[in-house]
Amino acid sequence: MSNQGEFRTRVVHLEMDEAFDGSGYVYSRFGNPTVEVFERAVAELEGAAGAVAFGSGMAALHAAITSLIPGRAGPAEARRHLALAASRDCYGGTSALISGPLTSLGIASAFVDFTNPNEVEQALARQPRLILLEITSNPLLRVVDFPRLAELAHAVGARVIVDSTFSTPYLCRPLEHGADVVVHSATKFLSGHGDVTAGVIAGREDVVEPIRQSARLIGGVLGPHEAWLASRGMKTLALRMDRQCQNAQELAGWLEGHPAVERVYYPGLPSHPQHDLARKILRGGFGAVVSFDLRHCQPEAATAFIDRLKIFVPAPTVGDVESLVMYPARASHRGLGPEERRRIGIGDGLIRLSVGIEAVEDLRRDLEQALREAS
Ligand code: PLP
Repeated sequence: MSNQGEFRTRVVHLEMDEAFDGSGYVYSRFGNPTVEVFERAVAELEGAAGAVAFGSGMAALHAAITSLIPGRAGPAEARRHLALAASRDCYGGTSALISGPLTSLGIASAFVDFTNPNEVEQALARQPRLILLEITSNPLLRVVDFPRLAELAHAVGARVIVDSTFSTPYLCRPLEHGADVVVHSATKFLSGHGDVTAGVIAGREDVVEPIRQSARLIGGVLGPHEAWLASRGMKTLALRMDRQCQNAQELAGWLEGHPAVERVYYPGLPSHPQHDLARKILRGGFGAVVSFDLRHCQPEAATAFIDRLKIFVPAPTVGDVESLVMYPARASHRGLGPEERRRIGIGDGLIRLSVGIEAVEDLRRDLEQALREAS
């Protein structure tokens, strides 16, 4: 009996040594087998050496930005050198993170329209350390030529973070086009069922390992139950993306011909100003987010249109298997005044759809009956 007890104690100590040496699991914040399954799957899908999972997309973005900016620039240096140049129309939470907490940390940032060559040139002349962009912007679906931007950024010593939440590795693998780090809100298309909040970073080992080490200390890591849900959702990523992109393409084309619709924003339409670029960067589809302007529309008419929809669920997110609808003027961009919204192209009639996997004929009929009264 006492021999058995001694043996057990020895085994426990050996396991502890192993775990603390980095080859085992001792405490979930330092490493967890279920979370690692999710991280390995994302790394493989992105063609990355490694990945680190976080409790949300915002935590992943924060970790990527703060760990890739070497040191803090003083005010004089900050005037000459930017720490961070980020897309002007990136996700509202990302802009708020940059203008709020990151600015308070002394990270000098500028928002840039990366589709405008003059603005790109001016930003790169300030030798930023980091570029942050989304491949397709939200909600206007502008496409950034990020492979070209990555070349220009690397020439001035900047590293490039691509938030690929809307594209997923099924449509684009940014590391193959020159990105240094890919970030996802896995809350969206990666997990796909609107039942988990998660984020993930993928990249080269020399980039990912310091992020992993600081995540262990800062502690915004993903929990194992969420990692399990995200991994389970990812098993159907290809099927979901195929169906969602096909549905989105079909609805975008149909909406473009509807008399109550002024304009449709979808990179898969030949009328989209960057359709050719989108064809080069995305493969197998153009994503599942479609935005459109209702003709001559006041805010009350836009919200009444959303109220008439029976299948599209009003929700401030994207990427679920169910179709979702959002009114940017009252949700993602409600913090901006009407003038500022109009300046960046978000009118009172703008509606954003996240197209799901339902039968496309049902979705078309739902939009048709809701648009009938809007005409
Ligand atoms: N990146 C993009 C493009 C997003 O749309 C979002 C959330 O909507 C985020 C990041 C933040 O992700 P999370 O809500 O998982 O923190």
